[in-house]
Amino acid sequence: MSHNLFETFSTRMRARQNANFITTPEGRNYTYAQALDMSATLAATLISLGVSLGDRVAVQVDKSPEAILLYLACLRMGGVYLPLNTGYTASEIGYFLGDAEPALFVCRPDSLEAASQVAADTGCPQVVTLGTKGDGTLMEQTAGATPFSGIETRADGDLAAILYTSGTTGRSKGAMLTHGNLGSNAKTLAEAWRFTETDRLIHALPIFHTHGLFVACNVVLMSGASMYFLPRFDVDNVIGAMADGTVLMGVPTFYTRLLQDPRLTPELTANIRLFTSGSAPLTADTHNAFRQRTGFAILERYGMTETNMITSNPYDGERLAGTVGMPLSGVEVRITDAETHKTIAPGDIGMLEVRGPNVFSGYWRMPEKTRAELLDDGFFVTGDLAMLDERGYIHIVGRDKDLVISGGFNVYPKEVEQVIDEMVGVVESAVIGVSHPDFGEGVTAVLVLKPGAKVEEADVLFELSDKLAKYKQPKRVFFVDSLPRNTMGKVQKNQLRDQYKDIYADA
Ligand code: AMP
Repeated sequence: MSHNLFETFSTRMRARQNANFITTPEGRNYTYAQALDMSATLAATLISLGVSLGDRVAVQVDKSPEAILLYLACLRMGGVYLPLNTGYTASEIGYFLGDAEPALFVCRPDSLEAASQVAADTGCPQVVTLGTKGDGTLMEQTAGATPFSGIETRADGDLAAILYTSGTTGRSKGAMLTHGNLGSNAKTLAEAWRFTETDRLIHALPIFHTHGLFVACNVVLMSGASMYFLPRFDVDNVIGAMADGTVLMGVPTFYTRLLQDPRLTPELTANIRLFTSGSAPLTADTHNAFRQRTGFAILERYGMTETNMITSNPYDGERLAGTVGMPLSGVEVRITDAETHKTIAPGDIGMLEVRGPNVFSGYWRMPEKTRAELLDDGFFVTGDLAMLDERGYIHIVGRDKDLVISGGFNVYPKEVEQVIDEMVGVVESAVIGVSHPDFGEGVTAVLVLKPGAKVEEADVLFELSDKLAKYKQPKRVFFVDSLPRNTMGKVQKNQLRDQYKDIYADA
């Protein structure tokens, strides 16, 4: 029996022939029947362009319905979909093409020249373009193609996609995701979040990342729901979509921005049944403020590129602010001593490790990195520090690499950030470790203030002096207009560490 993920999708798609699958604000629309047809035509076009079973198809394009149909076409004909962040420069693309050796590179129409050069330099044999309005040479080549109406047989463990991790330290790694990984997680999430064919997802996430591509689109396909496909997050567009939408999947910055808008009211959200958040921590403050304004408890979930989704707050039970909920059905989580991988006591902070059908099969052409992070017993070491509370909810305390070790003591940045964030006049903060001649690392805080707030370094130090143990208190405090964030809303602490790296040189 084939385990091609498209096989599962196509059953739902056929049952929903006349229903809308994907609609854009300009009124472009694909019904499920049209999506099935176009996936077959695009699959034939991929084959005619030289893509064979198991070949990678690298894609760096702006968000459009056709990009999702290309993903489906790729699954259908047994290719391996490889989406790339639209922000990557030509030289960065060179690394990915050289590493993944795709048979085809699909780029934006206006970057064809640079893309062709990079492709030539890295030995990628074919480049085509895809625009946001159904235009580009890929779409031109579909004309006259005899649709590939079959579905390639794939095993559970065959690759469906490679997603490169954001790579804040060292080289970006290609996470190999199988048909089984994606299928099991989509099914689990659709059930956990009660998706049905009457749902209409407001899709405002990028589609080169696991959140917007797999969590969002796969759940919709699994349940025969529909999506309203916004080019990007924009407060006006999302507010405009609320009357028709039933679910919004967001990153925390979606919610902080919506909260700044007076139009966010219970009337506006009356048609919505679920708001979810992930990819970065949602503060308890944002969760509570959103609840107060709209009556909705945002459902926070946690996962990563390598593992798909790992935990979720409950749909029916209490959604606890500041936690990421419990392991999803079929997913095992343990919190361990990072050295021994032995489970530690509830309430203690340790490394979050995960095992299950959702966990990837390894890093592309990096067997040593794979061995280091994917243990013999099948558990994957996430690099996230976490704590299991007495009610069974998991709290993410931060990334292992963001842990600050000052004078031999572990300082969890989140604990310090939470205290600073409670200060009057503070919007948010990031706590980092910076090389220090005496302490190894000096705890350092970087703050964003509310407009007009008068908070100085001495005020912060005074405020923390009786709230945190001495070793956790920042040695220096800096103020910035905004924290550096990537498109998924994650604070880029590596950039801050770099910016402040010399501040204790003379200490
Ligand atoms: P990515 O592979 O880009 O999806 O990044 C995965 C990382 O994002 C995880 O390892 C976590 O550090 C972080 N992350 C994702 N969801 C959450 C969440 N709900 N709370 C805190 N961190 C999160």
